[in-house]
This record gives sequence, structure tokens and C-alpha cells, in this order.
Amino acid sequence: MREPILVINAGSSSIKFSVYETAADRTLSAAAHGQVEDLGEGSDRPARIEVADGRGRKLIDKPIAAKDHAGAMAAIHDWFAEHIGSEAGFSGVGHRVVHGGLAYAQPVRIDAAVLAALDELVPLAPLHQPHNLAAIRAVSGLAPDVPQVACFDTAFHRAQPPLAQQFALPRELTAKGVRRYGFHGLSYEYITSALPRVAPDCADGKVVVAHLGNGASMCAIEAGRSIATTMSFTALDGLPMGTRTGALDPGVILYLLQHEGMSAAQIEHLLYERSGLLGVSGLSSDMRALLASSLPAAKEAVDLFVYRIGRELGSLAAALGGLDAIVFTAGIGENAAEIRARVCKDARWLGVTLDERANAAGGPRISGSDSRISIWVIPTDENLVIARHTRRLLDAGTSN
Ligand code: ADP
Repeated sequence: MREPILVINAGSSSIKFSVYETAADRTLSAAAHGQVEDLGEGSDRPARIEVADGRGRKLIDKPIAAKDHAGAMAAIHDWFAEHIGSEAGFSGVGHRVVHGGLAYAQPVRIDAAVLAALDELVPLAPLHQPHNLAAIRAVSGLAPDVPQVACFDTAFHRAQPPLAQQFALPRELTAKGVRRYGFHGLSYEYITSALPRVAPDCADGKVVVAHLGNGASMCAIEAGRSIATTMSFTALDGLPMGTRTGALDPGVILYLLQHEGMSAAQIEHLLYERSGLLGVSGLSSDMRALLASSLPAAKEAVDLFVYRIGRELGSLAAALGGLDAIVFTAGIGENAAEIRARVCKDARWLGVTLDERANAAGGPRISGSDSRISIWVIPTDENLVIARHTRRLLDAGTSN
């Protein structure tokens, strides 16, 4: 395979990965996608590696002995050498890294100094950053000469106006980095890159993108630049999610600490793992299960999700000072026609009308011909954004 790029998205119990081949004109095509699942102490099943080719045909699916990120990376490395192969192995590895702090507004080639700086950001994203960095270290151990690139979920939002990045806290806390960072930036960057092709009239306009997956956020974008977003210091803020609360009065945390006798660890577990769609429904964090259920609590969880999207849409439209387009993306945004229809119905006050047939068919354009705002469904592709950045930084490095 020509100059393959490996893209790694490492979570606590899984590593998702993609392999891209580089064409002579330096464009990239997806050759394989895969994951290693059930890593770590918490899992009672053996870890597995699954890989499919660029068209989704299964290449392998088998248990492996890996217990941690190093073991998982070794399994990915071995699979590649055995089944795909390339004289020189990967030409580069791109990583999704959740937090780039204030320093990293762009992807960066990883060296010891960068890794040390990213380590210092662990307290800002304790549930994600350590796993991202463990995967980087595992690759360094396996293939020390292969260049690695970090691409940050926060970077796209560094272009926001300063006010959009600020909490009303004393200045010394803001200076220490307690501020709104925003996440899902690689997804928003992909959508921004796709707009000139899919919806050229909107590419320079005022757009709200709704990234609705297990993690969910929305972003106001003007002429390709992030103006405001619903997530802030952590990936807890904003919309209710599969298992996360979304925005919560900070007084609730004080109440839980002072009157419910909960520890910080218990509150962390509550906010990240037991709330959101799961907490309200008492049934599931999975939107498909909630839409299929007749339980009143399941309906209420969906109602709250849609209601909060509508509230944030108004807020983001105000931050933009107008609105030309709304884009739905990620698992729920791309697949749940019912949720899109309900969000659009609540947005009638903005002059939104829906083309129901186009919505049922999944778009890309789902607004009615008389709609004042165009509405789109665009599948996101964060891994491709990471692969493109990695290719670009490697090519810039070799031509210097
Ligand atoms: P992650 O944030 O983990 O990447 P995804 O973007 O894969 O999440 O989104 C997962 C969510 O998408 C789940 O709530 C799932 O139920 C929902 N989803 C996927 N397909 C459908 C569908 N056909 N209808 C409704 N919801 C769907």
C-alpha cells in the first residue's frame, strides 16, 4: 500500500482506527476501519480486534490477548504487517487528542516536549486525555521512527471571539485556564470542509451544526469560523447526551456535596455515566431504544433532548446574529429522521420548513423549498480530517 496513514481514536476501553492510502496527487482514500474493544480491567470479556475494508467488508474479527493500549496497538500493528503490509510500515500516525488547551490551535507533530505539554492538560480531561496519550506512547514504543501527529477536539474553537471563551469567574481563574474550550472540533472542521461541495450557498454564511451522537454538542459557525459552542470547560456542558447531563446549575453540585453526602468521584460518575438520556428514561442511553419504547419516561427523555436542542439553537442563532443553515450530523443527526423533524418543527419561528420526503430519505437537503433557512444532513468524518492533517504535516516536513 502506498504511504499508509494510520488514524487512532483511543478511548478508555476501546481503540478505533482507520487506515488511509495516499494517492499520487496526495489525496487519501480509506482502506480499512477497525477497532479493538473490551480493553482494560473493567471488562470481563477478552479483547477483540475487528477490521473491515474501505467498503465495509469484514477482514478479521477475533479475540486477542491485549489488556491495555500497548497490547491493542501491538495487535493493530501486527494485523497491518500481516494482512496489508507495506515495505516501510505506516508513513505516519495521526491521533485524535481531546484537549489541546490554549497552546494548540492547530494539529502538531508530536515530540517529547509536545507530549509533556499534553500531559499537563490531563486534569482538564481526565476521562479521555490519558487514553489518547497512552496510545501515542504505545506507538512510540512499537515504531519509534514513525512520525506521529496530534489533532485536537478543542482546536477549531480557539478561533472564537474572546467573550465566547470566557466564564464570569475571577480573572485569576480564567488565567489558570478555567474557560470555555469546546469539543467535537474535528467533526465541525469536517462539516466546514464539506459545505462548499454539499451546500455551496451556505459555506460562507451563518450555520449551526448539530453533532448529535452519544456525545452531543452544537456549534455556531460563520464563514468557516467557530463563533460559539455548547460544550465548554469539559464535554459535559450543553445538550443532554447518552449518559451525560449537559448544562446543569453549578448549585446542584454544591447541593449534592453538602446535602446528599456524595463524594467528588460519585458526582463525576453521576454526571458522566448515569445521567442524560439514560438517567431520564431509566431505560437506555441509545436513541434507537428510546424511540422504539412506549414507556412515558423514554418519551420524556426524547422530549427533553429535542427541547434542549431548540433552546441552544436560539442561543447560537443569537450569537451569530442570524442564521442561514442548520446541519445535522453524527449517529442521531444522520440517522434519526424523527428527531430532525421534531427539531425543525420547533424551529418554525425561524422560518424553517421541512421536506418530509427528503428528510425520510436522509437528505442531504431536507428543508422545504419555501424554508427561510436551509437544512442539511451531512455525515461527519473526523478520521479523514485527522488523516489529512497528518498527511499535510508529514509532506511539509519532508519538503523542508
Ligand atoms: P459516538 O458519540 O459514540 O460516536 P454516534 O455518533 O455513533 O456516537 O451516535 C450514537 C447514537 O446514534 C446512539 O444514540 C444511537 O442510538 C444513535 N443512532 C444510530 N442510528 C440510529 C437510528 N437509525 N435512529 C436513531 N438513532 C440512531
